[in-house]
Amino acid sequence: MPADKTNFHDAIIIGAGFSGLYQLHQLRDQLGLEVLVVEAGQDVGGTWYWNRYPGARCDSESYYYSYSFSKALQREWRWTERYAEHGEIRRYLDHVADRFDLRRNIRFGTRVRAARWDDGNTLWEIETEAGETLTCRFLITAVGCLSAANVPDIPGLGGFSGQWHHTGRWPHEGVDFTGKRVGLIGTGSTGMQAAPVIAAQAAHLTVFQRTANYSIPSRNRPLSAEAWAEIQENYDAIRTKTITSSNGHPFEVFDKSALDVSPEERDARYERAWAEGGLGFRASFNDLLKNKAANDTASEFIRRKIRAIVKDPEVAAMLTPSDHPFASKRPPVDTDYFETFNRSNVTLVDVKAAPIQEVTAHGLRTSAAEYELDIIVFATGFDALTGPLLAMDIAGQNGCRLRKDWAGGPRSYLGLQVPGYPNMFTITGPGSPSVLTNMPVAIEQHTQWITACIAHMLAQGFNRIETSLAEAEAWGAEVNAAAHATLLPLANSSWYLGANVPGKPRAFMPYAGGMAHYAQICAEVAQDNYRGFTLGRVPGG
Ligand code: NAP
Repeated sequence: MPADKTNFHDAIIIGAGFSGLYQLHQLRDQLGLEVLVVEAGQDVGGTWYWNRYPGARCDSESYYYSYSFSKALQREWRWTERYAEHGEIRRYLDHVADRFDLRRNIRFGTRVRAARWDDGNTLWEIETEAGETLTCRFLITAVGCLSAANVPDIPGLGGFSGQWHHTGRWPHEGVDFTGKRVGLIGTGSTGMQAAPVIAAQAAHLTVFQRTANYSIPSRNRPLSAEAWAEIQENYDAIRTKTITSSNGHPFEVFDKSALDVSPEERDARYERAWAEGGLGFRASFNDLLKNKAANDTASEFIRRKIRAIVKDPEVAAMLTPSDHPFASKRPPVDTDYFETFNRSNVTLVDVKAAPIQEVTAHGLRTSAAEYELDIIVFATGFDALTGPLLAMDIAGQNGCRLRKDWAGGPRSYLGLQVPGYPNMFTITGPGSPSVLTNMPVAIEQHTQWITACIAHMLAQGFNRIETSLAEAEAWGAEVNAAAHATLLPLANSSWYLGANVPGKPRAFMPYAGGMAHYAQICAEVAQDNYRGFTLGRVPGG
């Protein structure tokens, strides 16, 4: 502990979303540590605090997009819909914060500007944007994977006379689209959720699409009393399935190749999955993400659906993806997305054929035409995984800087720790399964592992843990190999690869070897005396 104990904490956690809240609960209430959470927003919620755009809801199903660590919490919280809307998820996290009395250790409205490792004193110094300095033994980033908004640098945006908003920074008071001409840029998960809701309110919606995208209908519905009773009865089995699966969802993967059944059986399976809705479509066969020919059958099925839904054949052709296999980019699920293009107040513009050139005072100009708009909505995604970490100026041992060390792509051991940055843990960091899973499953695994690791250190009298460049490089090779055993790298413009942000190094960032397999590796590392980490006690700490 430093001589000046003011502002010293055993651990500082950055972020009060799903991961920060649970990490706080564990370190404070299980280990008895003195913990501070610093959060830029004015309340808990993380991604759900910021993403309040029309149509925002989770596309993992509510009853398993939730914490599993407390059975009492699981019993008392009643989800109302198959897919929870953003407000309901915030209410849930509010409830969690109150139920576990977490707010007293969270400082809201506090954004971290920089963090610096003090080797002599074995502690981290955190500098907030308000200029305050805090110190801690352990620094834990719980900053989310998709929290650094990506607003494209389009000339003229500053001179736009209307309103513009990025979906990930949506105004809390909402945006009234009534009678407005709205332009929506982006057709990923977010744009596909927002378009139908905006179209229902706006005078006119123009969707600017660069890449056509696959989507599966969500089939959202209220959770009936019977459905809820069944979930409650089966919760243990559901949770077991999520942690033993490859992506944190309790889906039963049909254990056959799409190529090993007749075309009739294949289509019947796809039809059933389409009617059931949601990300479970990927579980129709066991090789959709591994075998291109198998994947082609699913991709083609969805293309046929798009052509059947969209009445204008030219618009349908524009909406039909052809440049990447289904699910090689994160697959969206939607409510009436393709149907929206049958509305008379919706226009689709292909901005790959005619790129956006500038924002004018009154709208958008592409190389082919000008569009008058009152509101522009940027559903243009995020500087994923590394962006939220690199938004802070993090300095490690011997003056190393994360921004410099990761200039060629992230280097991390297990996505948990970066060489050169002792005592810093990155929850769902690059190199871990994170975004390839149902996030709460990845978050619970990481935070529990970190808690057990710190408990072990305390029990052994250790005050320092670090990994090495060799370990990070070896793990990086595993991450790369795992990605290349799938079709994921075939999507050239995917944010998994960093390809959506100009100038970002191309590296496949999440670990694609499967959640259960990854958790097993982490458990073995811990059992094997934290293999790949060096733990010790140094003076000064
Ligand atoms: P995204 O998947 O990165 O999609 C961004 C969209 O904006 C793409 O269509 C992209 O086109 C387009 N775009 C980006 N820059 C552009 C430019 N300069 N000009 C024209 N178009 C541009 O972002 P997202 O939709 O926000 O989704 C990100 C991730 O957040 C999802 O994949 C998912 O993991 C998560 N998410 C989850 C939920 C949920 O329900 N759980 C909901 C929303 C989002 P290109 O494809 O050509 O790059």
